[in-house]
Amino acid sequence: MKTRHPVSRIPLSRIPLSRIPLLLSCLLLLLTTCKKSTTESQNQGNQQEIVRTISGVVTVNFAPGSVMTDNPALAKVQDTSAENNFNDIAPLFGVTDYLAYQVSLNLGTHAPLSENITAAWTIPPDFISSMPPNCRPALFAMVYQDGGEEIMDNFLPIESVFLESSGLLTATLPYYIFSNTRSADQSWSAILMVAAVQDTIPYLMLPVSDSCGGNNILCPIAQCSLSSISSPFTMNRLHPIQNEVKPHTGVDLRVPDGSDVVAVADGTVEWVKVNYKVTWDGKPSGYGLYMIIRHDDGSATLYGHLSETIYKVGERVYRGQVIALSGGVPGDQNSGGSTGPHLHFEYVPKGWILGSKNRVDPFPCISSEPALVLPQGLCNE
Ligand SMILES: [Zn+2]
Repeated sequence: MKTRHPVSRIPLSRIPLSRIPLLLSCLLLLLTTCKKSTTESQNQGNQQEIVRTISGVVTVNFAPGSVMTDNPALAKVQDTSAENNFNDIAPLFGVTDYLAYQVSLNLGTHAPLSENITAAWTIPPDFISSMPPNCRPALFAMVYQDGGEEIMDNFLPIESVFLESSGLLTATLPYYIFSNTRSADQSWSAILMVAAVQDTIPYLMLPVSDSCGGNNILCPIAQCSLSSISSPFTMNRLHPIQNEVKPHTGVDLRVPDGSDVVAVADGTVEWVKVNYKVTWDGKPSGYGLYMIIRHDDGSATLYGHLSETIYKVGERVYRGQVIALSGGVPGDQNSGGSTGPHLHFEYVPKGWILGSKNRVDPFPCISSEPALVLPQGLCNE
C-alpha cells in the first residue's frame, strides 16, 4: 500500500538568503522554457481561434491550429480579370446570377495548416428571392492549377451547405484553393465568389469514380505507343521551365505540329478556349488553345496546346473523328506554356475536369485498337 506524503509548504521567510540567487536562476530558466514552448506551438499553427468579418456579409472562422499567422486578412476585391474568368465558366455550372462580392483571404507567407477554415456568407434576402426555381446559392473558389506547363487559375465549385431558414451559406475551405503563386510577395491567398446555381448539373451530380473502368477510350493521336509519351501523368514532375517538382495531371504525347487529334469516345464538345498567361515572373504558361469533350458515359477529356480546333461548343463528335490539329510550337498564345510540339491529354472518369482532383492517368484507359482517324465531319452531316 502506497502512502501519500503531504505536499510540504515552506514559508518564504524561512528560505536562507544564500539560496535566493539559485532560486532566481531557476525562475529565469522556467520563464525561458515557457517562452520556447510558446514559439513551438506557434510553429504548429496559431492556437487561438481567429474570426474575421466583413460586416453583415462574410465571416471566416479560423480554428486553432488552422493557420500560422495571427493576422489573416479578409477583404472585398474587385478584380475584373477574375470576374471575366467567372463569367466564362459560369454557364457550365448553370450559374444564373451571382453576388457582386468577391472576397480574398490572405494568410501571409504561410500555407494553411488544415482545412478547418470555415466561412459563412449571409445571403441577402433579395438575392434569394430573385433566384429562379430549383436554384440555390453555391460557393466558388479560384483554384490555381499548377500542372507545369499547364498553369491556370479558374473558378470551381466548392462544397457548401445553404440553410434557407437562416440564409447562411457555409463551407469548409479546402487547402488547395490557397496559392502563393498569384503575386510577387508569394503570400498565400484564396479568392471566393457566391453564385446562384441550378440544382441539376448532370455531370456534377454523378458519383465520382477514381478509374477509367476498362480500356474504353482510343488514343487521341494516330501513331500511338508508350514511346509517344514525352511526359507522363505524375503527381511529381520536374518542371521544364521552373525547375521545380510539380504534378502533371495529363500525359504529353509527342506529335509533329499540325497532326490529327481524334475524339477518344463519342461525346459533345463542352468547351473550347485559349488559356495563355504570362506569370508575374515573365514566363508563358497555360494550356494554350484547348478543347474539352464530355463523353456519353459522363467522363471528360481535354486536349491542350492545339494549333486549330474543328468543332464548336455543343457540337456532337464521334470516336475516332478528327476534332483538332496539334500544336505546341513555343511562341504563340495557342501554344500556351509549351516547350515544343506535343499534345497534352487529360482524362477524368466522372465530373468536372479542369483543376479536378479526380483526373487519372489516361494511358491505362486506352484501348489497344489503333485510333480510327475518321475524316472530320463524317459523322455529323
Ligand atoms: Zn502536359
